[in-house]
Amino acid sequence: MITPHTMVPRPDELDVEFYKATVAANALCIQRCQECGTWTHPARYYCPNCFSGKFAFEKMSGRATIHSYTVTHFTVEPAWKPFLPYVTIVAELEEGPRIVASAKGMDPEQVAIGSSIRIVTENKSPEFAIFWAESGKGEG
Ligand SMILES: [Zn+2]
Repeated sequence: MITPHTMVPRPDELDVEFYKATVAANALCIQRCQECGTWTHPARYYCPNCFSGKFAFEKMSGRATIHSYTVTHFTVEPAWKPFLPYVTIVAELEEGPRIVASAKGMDPEQVAIGSSIRIVTENKSPEFAIFWAESGKGEG
């Protein structure tokens, strides 16, 4: 049987570093400039604020709010068909950056812009993880 995420993407360039850090930490890690502190996602080779090339991937709290979302009622991707209708969220992290995550255990009718969510990661390979958005403020 085809199960969700049977096909695991293979990131390249800076995405490899982003995912490796996230997998190793078992938590979302976002690129941060080591000169000026600017968060950048997706990762870039140079800081968009000060153009420094010194950066690290730092662990996020996981606390976020729903900035935007969409409900998918039809998909051509077989792995996602059992989950229809599913919700894809643009999450605004407490630290500032935004990231796209899939809602987990959320009824589409429950989802509302501004709601508190928690971003958790699910490691799929040493170089790839999925981001889930769960209801609630979360901890730590
Ligand atoms: Zn900078």
